[in-house]
Amino acid sequence: MSFSRREFLAGAAAVGLLGPAAAAAQPGAQGRFASRHPGGTCFPPRQDPDPTLRFDPWIEVDPTALAFNVDVVSRLVGGRPILAVIKNNGYGLGLTLAGKILEAHTQVRGLAVVKTEEALALKAAGVAKPVLLMALFADADGPELVARGVDLCLFTDDAAQRLARAVQGAGRPARVHAYLDTGMSRMGMPYHRAAPWLEALFQGGLRPLSTFTELAEDREFDREQVRRLLDVASTLRTRGVDPGALHASSSEAVFNLPEGYLDMVRPGIALFGAYPSNEGVEREIAELRPAFRLRARVVRVERLRAGDSVSYGRTYTAERPTWVATLPVGHSDGYPREAVKGAKVLLNGRVYPAVGAVSASHTIVELGEGDPQVRIGDVATLVGPDHPDIHPNAVATRTGRSVYDVLMHLHAGLPRVVV
Ligand SMILES: *Cc1c(COP(=O)(O)O)cnc(C)c1O
Repeated sequence: MSFSRREFLAGAAAVGLLGPAAAAAQPGAQGRFASRHPGGTCFPPRQDPDPTLRFDPWIEVDPTALAFNVDVVSRLVGGRPILAVIKNNGYGLGLTLAGKILEAHTQVRGLAVVKTEEALALKAAGVAKPVLLMALFADADGPELVARGVDLCLFTDDAAQRLARAVQGAGRPARVHAYLDTGMSRMGMPYHRAAPWLEALFQGGLRPLSTFTELAEDREFDREQVRRLLDVASTLRTRGVDPGALHASSSEAVFNLPEGYLDMVRPGIALFGAYPSNEGVEREIAELRPAFRLRARVVRVERLRAGDSVSYGRTYTAERPTWVATLPVGHSDGYPREAVKGAKVLLNGRVYPAVGAVSASHTIVELGEGDPQVRIGDVATLVGPDHPDIHPNAVATRTGRSVYDVLMHLHAGLPRVVV
């Protein structure tokens, strides 16, 4: 199976890597990826007109913060290689954008995702480092995944047959990893029947590049899970099978479980600058830098009279005259609906409370009684590194959401701008 340059270009344009000029130079290019990635999962860093000049929200992505977090993680784990998890649209930052930035770091050995579509999009975008698909691949996708060089994980009883069908269709060997369940009961071959399964699967020339598991993030049980993985690995070695690199640690274990570092670590959220615990207690161990901002420009500044209410359901009523500003960004963009519970918004160096119900496309902030220091067109930051109250972990705790939601719910359709 081969892919023409035209198909590749169409795919790259569809995921937004080539910019408008290159996309326009491919009119009607209908390569298979062009139709398979409608809308794309990432947007060009700069568009014409510049999205930051509009009254639509946008997301800024900061490569220096990503680099800083890669360094922090690398130092914590004693320089072990990092398999960077960038699932779910690169934790909201943009899949191919995050992938391209992260793969450029020497400490990053490869990228990992959970959706077939994302693995293919990364390869179509020209990611050269390994891309691990931590999911069950369908027979319909197997040949293309192998042909594109996506790393597959194996964990089913029929893994050998599944793999054979994919390899046969692709006409080239596959890169494979063994996925073990050591106690999550979610994905992977259960550890207590893994050794004979692995031995049978890897008896020929085939070798796993790695054998990995996922931890339940319960400190004592995590230690037991690591022991289970190590036990399977040593049983295999005594039977002459090399399990490859062993890995288990997500961000939580990177901060809290040195026994889990093994040969490689597999963090996601920490690389994007958020702490895995909602309250961000890991800040005490190492400071990270949020690598994105959710921003929008003020579209309205008005003075409420005493008794005027705000937004749907009238959950906020002004007790005395006060100024409010409207931001054209709401829960459909990924900003939590629950902002009224105490979220703050940064405007011209000061934080103001969100008031009333956040609607699909609007958020209202209270500026106070005095002369408002805010004008139409001023840039607001709703989530970002610039003030402790708008740090992703602060937004999560103040709104009762998971910090993972704060990142992963950022709408894929918002422009991503590299700063
Ligand atoms: C999401 C995920 C990770 C990364 O988790 P973080 O908590 O974001 O660091 C690692 N491994 C697997 C299997 C995952 O699904």
